[in-house]
Order: sequence, then C-alpha cells, then structure tokens
Amino acid sequence: MSIDELREQVRCPVISSDDDGYDEARAVHNGMFDRRPRAVVRAEQAADVMGAVNFARENGLDLAVRGGGHSAPGFGSNDDGVVIDLSLMRHVQVDPAGRTARVGGGATWGDFNYATHAYGLATTGGIVSTTGVGGLTLGGGIGYLTRGYGLSIDNLLSADLVTADGKAMRASTTENEDLFWAIRGGGGNFGVVTSFEFRLHPVDTVTVGLFFYELDHAGDLFRFWRDWIQDAPETYGGFPAFQIAPPLPFVPEARHGDTFAIAVVHFTGPIDAGDAAMAPFRDLAPRVGEMVAPMPYPWLNSAFDAIFPKGIRSYWKGNYVTELTDAAIDEHLLNGPNVPEVSATMHLYSINGAAHRVAADETAFAYRHATFAPVYIAAWQDSAVDDARIKWVRDYYEATAPHSEPGGYINFMQEDDQSRIQDNYLGNYARLVDIKRMYDPDNLFHANQNIKP
Ligand SMILES: Cc1cc2nc3c(=O)[nH]c(=O)nc-3n(C[C@H](O)[C@H](O)[C@H](O)COP(=O)(O)OP(=O)(O)OC[C@H]3O[C@@H](n4cnc5c(N)ncnc54)[C@H](O)[C@@H]3O)c2cc1C
Repeated sequence: MSIDELREQVRCPVISSDDDGYDEARAVHNGMFDRRPRAVVRAEQAADVMGAVNFARENGLDLAVRGGGHSAPGFGSNDDGVVIDLSLMRHVQVDPAGRTARVGGGATWGDFNYATHAYGLATTGGIVSTTGVGGLTLGGGIGYLTRGYGLSIDNLLSADLVTADGKAMRASTTENEDLFWAIRGGGGNFGVVTSFEFRLHPVDTVTVGLFFYELDHAGDLFRFWRDWIQDAPETYGGFPAFQIAPPLPFVPEARHGDTFAIAVVHFTGPIDAGDAAMAPFRDLAPRVGEMVAPMPYPWLNSAFDAIFPKGIRSYWKGNYVTELTDAAIDEHLLNGPNVPEVSATMHLYSINGAAHRVAADETAFAYRHATFAPVYIAAWQDSAVDDARIKWVRDYYEATAPHSEPGGYINFMQEDDQSRIQDNYLGNYARLVDIKRMYDPDNLFHANQNIKP
C-alpha cells in the first residue's frame, strides 16, 4: 500500500519526504539521530493511531511511536518506516474534586503541569518539562515527587491503548489487569497509549534550594545525602549532582564555567518553614552560591529545560544502586568532576519513601529495593566531540558498575544497553515476556528497550 492509501485510512496529517515540514516532523530531541521515516502520522485521536498501527502491520513496515521524543536512543523515529507522532494529542482534562487528570499520550510534563497547577495539584513527573508523559511514565517515572508520591506509574489509574492488532482497550486494576501491570514499567512494548489517567496531589508552591559547593566538598555532600535522604521527611526531594555553573545570578560571575558539586533540593511542606528546612544544606559545607526561594512547582520542573534544548546531541547511561558504598562514592569523586559540558552531568536520584511502599511484583518496575538511580548524561552541540562525550559517559558508568546492580532504569539507557533487558526486570521479566506474547506476538512495538516475545 502507498502512503496515499494510508492518508485515506486516517484523518490526521500524514507527512512524507515530499511534504513541507518533513524535517521538523522526523526530528527527535536527540540530535544524534537523523532518521528518514517513510511517513510520520501526526495522530489526533485513537482512530488515527489504529489506522497507522494497522497500516504498518499489514505492510510489514517498521513502526516507531513518539510521545515527547526524548528517548536518548532516538526510539521515536526510524528509517523508511512509519512513525506515530502523538504530539498533537496533548490535551489535559483535570478533575479537581476527584484529584485526577486524564492526559493525551503525546503531552509533555509542561503541558500536564500547566493544567494541574491551575488547581494547585501535581503528580510525579520528571526533572525537565519538555519530556513526554508517555515514555517517562511507561518506563516508571522518577522525579522530584517520587519520595512523597511514588513513581509516575504509582499514580497511574488507567490507560487507553491501541494494541498491535489495531484494537483499542482500557487497562486498569479492573480491566485488562495483565496489560496494566506490564505498562507500569515495561515501556512502549505493549501498545500505543492514547491517554493516561493519573492521581493528583496537593503540590502547589514549593521551596526550592540550589546549593553550589566546591569540589573539595563533593564527598561531604554525597555521603551526607546518602545517609540523610533515607529517613528524611517525604516532603523533601531532589538530588546531588556535578554541574558546570551556568551564568546564574546567585553564583559569583568569576565562577561561571567552573565545576561544582551541587544539591538540588525541594521541600513541599509549609512555605513559611521552607527556609529553615534548608538548614542541613547550609550546615554541611560552605556554599559558593545558594538560592532558596518559594517557586511554583512547574518552575522547579522546568529549571533545567534551557540546557537541554531540542536537537542537542546526547548519550546516557544509568544503573541502580542498592547500597551506595564509600567505594562507589570514591568513583563518583574521580569521574564527576570531569563533566565536560554545562549540559553533561551525573544526577543521583533517590528511590525510597512512597516508591518503596509498592511491592516489586506489583508493577513491572522491579527495582523497588534500589535506593538510588544514578544517570550519567552528556549532551553537546558539536558533532566533532561525539566520541569524547560518549567516552566520558561510558568511562563514568563503567567505573561505578562494580558498585551497582546489573540492571538499570530503562529510561536512562541507550540502544547499546539492550542486552541488559532481563537484568532490568529481574523476577518480573518472565511475566513481561508472557504478556508481550499475548498482546504483541510479532514484536510490532520493538523500538524500545525491547522485551522479545
Ligand atoms: C532532558 C531529559 C530529561 C529527562 N529526565 C528524566 C527524569 O527526570 N525522570 C525520568 O524518569 N526520566 C527522565 N528522562 C528520560 C525519559 O523518561 C525517557 O527519555 C523517556 O523515554 C522519554 O519519553 P518521551 O515520551 O519524551 O520519549 P519518546 O522518545 O517519544 O518515547 C520513548 C519511548 O517510549 C515510547 N512511548 C512514548 N510515548 C508513548 C505512548 N504514548 N504510547 C506508547 N509508547 C510510547 C516510545 O515508543 C519509545 O520507545 C529524561 C530525558 C531527557 C532527554
């Protein structure tokens, strides 16, 4: 069948190489990928998704599904296949009384937060607002609110999907329960989610603390964070990191461009207690720069957006840690200070609190016993440094691997991590394979950290 026949099957825009806007339609966030799909289907409703799924399957074409397009391995595009781009499906419907929101499969966290913040509500999303709700949630969803409210999947109430046979169905704890279990951590392996329904929480204005410490104090910061965060009130979240200072007004101008150990902290307790809540970060070491202020939650969720613009080249790796030993911290102290770019970093995300109150087999996300999920990121503009930036990430990752679990968070992984798939799911892997065989026996949805049927 030709693309014209596809155009007859769906009502939404279908963009191919002859059309204006093709380059924009095929681009994903990671500028390393310059793929040329045969058609980009800009779905506007579930019927368009069904038409595109049927077209790809019946014609034996490669299929990629794109939510926010942030996948580090560029899973949201392909060469010569069909791409279902959900970015026109970004509507958010908030039920303030019931404290729920239903959101289109292509919305970003910025779309979501804009809509829910109007009611003083939020749920766990990521660190950056341009990331898609779709990919982030399907992988698990680690973010600022994880300690207080669990992973994004722990707040997922239901999802509407189109499965590989082109049929629409709802998955929840009472409908298609196997599928609902699998999509909570199993990634995009099981179908195209056209809408997600989330539970919301009263999170409105929060106290944000950004603390910049000399590298000499990086060890103090990481050891403090390791011990403190396990039992700290769940109103706290955030992460320690290595960061080259951008030109921030609260960092002395002469130090812009220098590398620091930083703490990004937030406190969702009463605003008038927020400044005092930051005391531990003032006590632990002298600060070169500090900002503490009440901020709307969407501000916090977009604080890092500017250093990760669309088109930036990037390479990521991640793993889980159950016990952050002194030896592991020593490896961070050796590698982290060499961050090569303002948009390269290691963030040490905590997994505890509400995320630990869900059993390992309750959702596909198996690492409920992990205490940290470090991510090693390099993002850069100049293709001449591709090899050097990738090497920095790999070296850092490999140095910490002996102190980490074999598995990692699928959303922090690269294409070259596909061999880790069983380790990522531990005891949940066999059930995921069974469910994959039930819903996608021919592996139509394979542009992901792939669970092979
Ligand atoms: C700058 C940046 C910051 C990030 N910060 C965080 C963070 O704080 N916490 C965190 O957990 N992760 C974070 N991530 C990782 C992020 O969760 C993954 O990259 C995620 O896959 C992105 O989702 P997306 O929808 O934007 O990406 P896409 O590239 O569109 O999709 C990624 C994968 O999910 C599938 N998918 C997406 N939407 C759907 C859908 N509606 N139905 C079915 N399949 C779908 C795709 O097919 C693909 O396999 C970050 C990534 C970036 C680039």
